[in-house]
Parts: sequence; structure tokens; C-alpha cells
Amino acid sequence: MLDLLARSRSHEYEGIARRDFLKSACLLAAAAVGMPSELAARMVQEVEAGRKPTVIWLSFQECTGCTETLLRTSSPQLDELLLDLINLAYHETLLAAAGHQAEAARMAAIEEYAGEYIMVVDGSIPTADNGIYCMIGGKTALEIIEETAPNAAALIAIGSCSAWGGIPSSPPNPTGAVGLNEIITDRPVVTIPGCPPNPYNFLGTVLQYATLGTLPELDEKGRPTFAYGRTIHEHCPRRAHFDAGRFAQRYGDAGHRLGWCLYELGCKGPSTYANCSVQHFNDVPDAWPIGIGHPCYGCTEEDIAFKVPLHATTEINDPTPPRIFPPITPDRPGISPLATGVAGAVLGGAAGAAIMASNKLSDDDAEADDGSGSARTEG
Ligand code: SF4
Ligand code: SF4
Repeated sequence: MLDLLARSRSHEYEGIARRDFLKSACLLAAAAVGMPSELAARMVQEVEAGRKPTVIWLSFQECTGCTETLLRTSSPQLDELLLDLINLAYHETLLAAAGHQAEAARMAAIEEYAGEYIMVVDGSIPTADNGIYCMIGGKTALEIIEETAPNAAALIAIGSCSAWGGIPSSPPNPTGAVGLNEIITDRPVVTIPGCPPNPYNFLGTVLQYATLGTLPELDEKGRPTFAYGRTIHEHCPRRAHFDAGRFAQRYGDAGHRLGWCLYELGCKGPSTYANCSVQHFNDVPDAWPIGIGHPCYGCTEEDIAFKVPLHATTEINDPTPPRIFPPITPDRPGISPLATGVAGAVLGGAAGAAIMASNKLSDDDAEADDGSGSARTEG
């Protein structure tokens, strides 16, 4: 498949020079993860010089959602990603080869790119009964990791399954599913949890490694802090409603329809560290759970996802109150006659707008009260 794609490409993209095209793809990828634009320029240099990071991607107990999310990037698009930015030497789902040929391709890549490649794992690793619950080409996942990891320059666990076990590790965890960092404990494993994970968090990590030869700063769970340093709640577009005590009570009630906070429907955003609220999926605005009206279910958190019931509420981590509370009886300094004249003219126009706005709010409140949305004053 990769060959076909390569042959179908020209060095011009609808009149845009290849270099400009690459540059914009790198800029978009870098900007998506908050990296400086100088880094994008360096990425272009590296890519043009043929120094693309080689990736060997291993899939174990997984649903292919992690791969699917990567295929949905549009900046860069799949073919740019695979042909221009990374050298995807092995990936079961995307390989044209199958069976023994595919396994031979993995072994050849391990040898050819020894010490250079990034080993990526999606899916959890079964450890019960010597790992027999996931076997590929007659080898267990444990054996495949044992073959592939030693020559890898960097290790990335993409998705919640490989970050900490994910769905397969839900109690009673019959296969003994664990994350990669429980198998490899003597080297750093970058974890990119999420179900699915945001592809830009993966790309940002890979491109930084390819360009600077360094891994991003990680938290104590191995997650890059550029993506997992803050809770969903901190940047949630519904946060103003949380602070104002406006909570949807039921799906489809007036509060829900008005975009109120989903905490009382079980939103785990206050205790979930991830950047979904600012980095949406499929490059479509608002394509993320809270953006379409569903509570965050905490998929990046080992202690929450698939363990805490979907509609149960969780602790609010690091509650940060609004910086300024509106005063109830604001102090007003004395006003000069000139100022009142000018203000009178301005306020004449503003009053009309304010009346319209307060009517709208009253309508919303009335509709919400009527539809069982809850507006509380104790945030
Ligand atoms: Fe699928 Fe989620 Fe596991 Fe990725 S983390 S393999 S999307 S179940
Ligand atoms: Fe957003 Fe959930 Fe926080 Fe409400 S509780 S502000 S919906 S993250």
C-alpha cells in the first residue's frame, strides 16, 4: 500500500512546492501540540535530509481505535504522515504483507534500524498463563516485545490499553492485561493514554524525538505534560456554567440543551488530565465528548476509566475558583457631570442591548427551570 501511495505522488501538490507543503504540514503538527515554530523549520530540514523517524508499531489486545484515530489526522494527512514525516516500517493493520512475510518484515526492520527506531505499542499485554491470550505468528505479545524492545531507541505506549491496561484490564481482568510500563521497567516508556488517544499527542512526541532527539517532559505516569498537564475541567467550554452552578440534570433537559455543565451527569473532567478540551478529534471543531453533550468518562485515568460507573461523579482535583467574583454591592466612585453626560449617550444604546440580553437570559432560565435543569448558587 505504501508503495502505491508513493508512486501516485508527484513533487508538486496542486501547484504548491513540496518544500512549502512539508513546511506547512510540520508547522500544523508542531502548533497542534504547542511546539515553537522554529521546531517545525528544523523538522522540515530533517525530513528533507531523509532523516525520518522509523516506527515499528505493535498491536496486541486492542480494538484498532488507536490506529483509526491516527488515520483521521488531516494536518498532516495520512499519506504525508506516512511518506514524508515518519518511516512506518511495520504496522500490522497497514502492511500489505501478511503472515510469515509480515513477521519477516518486522525482524528485518529491527535489524536494519537497530538503535534508531521508535517502538510503539497499542493494546494491552496479557500476562496470565504465560501470555497465551494474545499470540501473533506463534509468538506471545511478551515474546514479541522481548524481541523488539531491546533495539528500540524510544518506547511509546499509545492508548489507554497499552498505557495501563485499558478495557481488557477491567475487573476481573481474566488475561492479566497490563500496560507496557509494567513489562519494561528499566527504561522510560512514554504513555499517551486515551480511548482513543488524540493523534497529535502522539505526533508531537514522535516529531520532537525525531527533530531534537529528546522526549517531552513526562509526568509520574509517563504522560507528556504538554498534553496531560492540566485537567479537562480547567479548559472546558462549559466551565462558566460549573462556576455559576448551572448543571444539566438529565440528557435532553433544558440545561443540557443550553450547554450547561455535565458534572451531575457524571462528568469526570475535574479529575481527568488530558487536552481534549483544546485539541478536538478528527480536526472537527467540538468533536469530543463534552463538545457533543456527553460527560467526559476519564479515559486517560487508570483509576477512573472502566472502573468508576459512567454516571457517577468523582472528586474535583485542584479546584481553581474564578479569578474574579462579581461583587454583590459594588463600590462606585463619585461621577462627574461631564462623565454622566457622555455615559448617558452610551448607556442609551447599551440599555436597549442589555434589556434584550436580560430577556434572553430570563427566557433561558425559565426554559431551564421548566425543563428540570438545575441552577445552583453553591458552585
Ligand atoms: Fe481501542 Fe481504546 Fe484500547 Fe485504543 S485504548 S486499543 S481505542 S480500546
Ligand atoms: Fe466541563 Fe465536566 Fe468540568 Fe462541567 S464538570 S465544566 S462539563 S469538565
